[in-house]
Amino acid sequence: MAEKNNLMEKLVSLCKRRGFVFPGSEIYGGLNGTWDLGPLGVLLASNIKQLWWKSMVQEHDEILGLDSTILYHPKVWEASGHIAGFTDPLVECKNCHQRFRADQTDIEKPCSNCGKKEWTASRDFNLMFKTHVGPVEDEASTTYLRPETAQGIFINFDNVLQSSRVKLPFGVAQIGKGFRNEITTGNFLFRVREFEMMELEYFVKPGEDEKAHENWKKERLDWHIKVLGINKDNLKLVDLPREDLAHYSKGTTEIWYNWPFMGFGELEGIANRTDFDLKNHAKASGKELAYFDPETKEKIVPYVIEPSEGVGRAMLAVLIDAYNEEKAPKAAGEGEEERIVLKFAPKVAPIKAAVLPLVKDEKLVKIAKEIYSDLKKEWFVQYDEAATVGRRYRRQDEIGTPYCITVDFDTLKDDAVTLRDRDSMKQERIKILDISTKIREKLI
Ligand code: ATP
Repeated sequence: MAEKNNLMEKLVSLCKRRGFVFPGSEIYGGLNGTWDLGPLGVLLASNIKQLWWKSMVQEHDEILGLDSTILYHPKVWEASGHIAGFTDPLVECKNCHQRFRADQTDIEKPCSNCGKKEWTASRDFNLMFKTHVGPVEDEASTTYLRPETAQGIFINFDNVLQSSRVKLPFGVAQIGKGFRNEITTGNFLFRVREFEMMELEYFVKPGEDEKAHENWKKERLDWHIKVLGINKDNLKLVDLPREDLAHYSKGTTEIWYNWPFMGFGELEGIANRTDFDLKNHAKASGKELAYFDPETKEKIVPYVIEPSEGVGRAMLAVLIDAYNEEKAPKAAGEGEEERIVLKFAPKVAPIKAAVLPLVKDEKLVKIAKEIYSDLKKEWFVQYDEAATVGRRYRRQDEIGTPYCITVDFDTLKDDAVTLRDRDSMKQERIKILDISTKIREKLI
């Protein structure tokens, strides 16, 4: 990993330069806590989401998908306890009016913004964005942009149960936007105000919740290592102390990543939400939200285990983990130079291969374009004919493309190309017909 202190600076700059992430509303001076995904960022995020969906829904017979709206009936937020309890403690500097999270500020010290030490008392600040549904802005039309996707799952509990006849234990998974009006934002994608979330609500019989919690902790940690390819030494599981638990949680374990800007901190939360949400929604809506156990003939209100992770936070961990600076042969001429390379797990990489004609010769270009057209039916690949082949390799290293395929004059004779591996930089000669198989092998 590059020097910790300026790694983030380099990463933010690379992300902008190469089209992974742009500051939100940049031409108007930016909007705090918002970032836009550029062309490569969209692909990276989409790969992370697809891999999550595959592991959670496709490979689990008992887990089903859902896509609920972002706006819910205002009563959802009353019943869920978010109006009363989805808050962070806030202190304000009386002198400059800067606001800080009280749990992250030492009020024995002066304000980091103006240097005066005049703090207000701490008060609870609700993180939900308020909005109105319809043309009249009154109390009755007030609702909130969801700060988590989970409530959409709880209010559809009975719909899923009735329409798919699942048996306990079963899960409902959802990927979608969440909004939190964080008191302070920062550290790039780490703490923002609008972000996508990947959430699973896994319903189990009461009494079987702790075992399920244990299983999910292990499965989720493994996913980050085996699927996203994050170095296991940069990850750990941490149980939260009681005083840090959310209002609905009986116990929460977090997966922590070793962030360069703060050391170990939350990447994903895995909470035991008990029957809190289903019971409260049943009470507030008057609708029964229970499971009928065909064996015992009893109605059960299940407990729920919730693994929940932000797509942007996962993306940030993947980018930090993949970022490397190392010595490499010069792109042009003799000697060595520094190369920046994103060593993404091939599955996660936005572009799987780049096709490069050695020089802009009509015959080489024709073959290279044919290979490119063929590969792009299956994967996102790039075609690049500008500059020396060495420089083109560097461009692909910087965006983490696992393979470069070079068409040269020998190709005209042997129907083979040079396949260059991103990490080892080794080159091998393979038949054009074998390229797809080679790429596929990398993606297993
Ligand atoms: P914190 O205590 O850091 O405010 P939290 O415990 O409230 O976070 P959760 O409610 O557990 O966070 O959110 C689930 C996941 O959503 C987090 O693990 C994280 O990956 C992501 N997430 C939460 N808040 C943000 C945010 N403001 N920006 C980006 N991702 C976030």
